[in-house]
Amino acid sequence: MPVSWEPIDLRSDTVTKPTDEMREAMARAEVGDDVYGEDPTVNRLQEMAAAVLEKEAALFVPTGTMANQLAVKLHTRPGQEVILDERSHMYNLEMAAMAVISGALAHPLKPVDESLDWAAIESGIRPHSTHHAQTGLIVLENSQNLAGGTLISLDRTNEICRRAHDIGVPVHLDGARIFNAAIGLGVTAAEIARPFDSVMFCISKGLGAPVGSLLLGPRMLIDRAIPLRRMFGGAMRQSGILAAAGVVALEKMRSRLAKDHANAKLLAEGLAAIPGAEIDPERVQTNILVFDISTPGLDAEDVIAQMRTHRVLANSIGRRRIRLVTHKDVSRQDCLNAVETIRGILTTHI
Ligand SMILES: *Cc1c(COP(=O)(O)O)cnc(C)c1O
Repeated sequence: MPVSWEPIDLRSDTVTKPTDEMREAMARAEVGDDVYGEDPTVNRLQEMAAAVLEKEAALFVPTGTMANQLAVKLHTRPGQEVILDERSHMYNLEMAAMAVISGALAHPLKPVDESLDWAAIESGIRPHSTHHAQTGLIVLENSQNLAGGTLISLDRTNEICRRAHDIGVPVHLDGARIFNAAIGLGVTAAEIARPFDSVMFCISKGLGAPVGSLLLGPRMLIDRAIPLRRMFGGAMRQSGILAAAGVVALEKMRSRLAKDHANAKLLAEGLAAIPGAEIDPERVQTNILVFDISTPGLDAEDVIAQMRTHRVLANSIGRRRIRLVTHKDVSRQDCLNAVETIRGILTTHI
């Protein structure tokens, strides 16, 4: 099929295909039965991930959702609450898993500005009483997916963790895109991860690996996570074939994420100049952007359907907002072309 017929797929960075180097590494990966702890490639990925994030231990799991839900199970007891941002992945996109699997009650909060801060979280912590569910866990997400890839500053995450620990509440980081956050904040991923009791990140997003995520934390926590992963159905066998791509992802794919951020900025600047598309390019901090089409009053799904006929793919967030995600399989030129497509659609409608 000619290259020009490939769609410009801005639906998510999950659509990225493994690189040739990943496929070669997968083909020649040394493997063993990971349920016996005998897959050298899985062990290598877990050790690398722990070293990169400066955590004691890491566990390879099939999905980010499983890593997040393991964290809920590990940190809470049934009947406890989990405080999180009302826009978070764990609240919106994980099939109510914490209620079903852990008997945990999600307590979603609306942030005052870009993200939850300690003041917002503190107001959500219930008093000790015989009436209130008690807070078992706080979850932060960085970068914040549905908020448009926005960042939470290191000062803010550090303060939230310190204050939470003062009252004995653990904090989990949904760091699906922690390496995008690190580049956006100009810090290391380890610095972001430092105060958290557990951290999840995905190799299957912008890093380009086909499958997998890691859950990280103290050795004792990860030791408890291993039988739970089995219970969740996530204990795999010769999963070194998958982990091999993750090793390449961690070694080779982190620094190039900056290009995706530059492309997202370019897209945002192009969209900001289109009448009917509302976006502030200054607020585009990583590889995700959300633009609003409220003014022309168009339906996001209609615009997306038209974009699709021009082979530009996107997802909606609600009725009036469209999300675009840049990644290694869309070029700068693809982004410029996508802007022209959207300009054509929006200007014929207003
Ligand atoms: C993608 C993502 C996850 C996990 O997704 P899976 O599809 O289960 O791997 C979790 N949190 C955020 C913020 C994400 O973007």
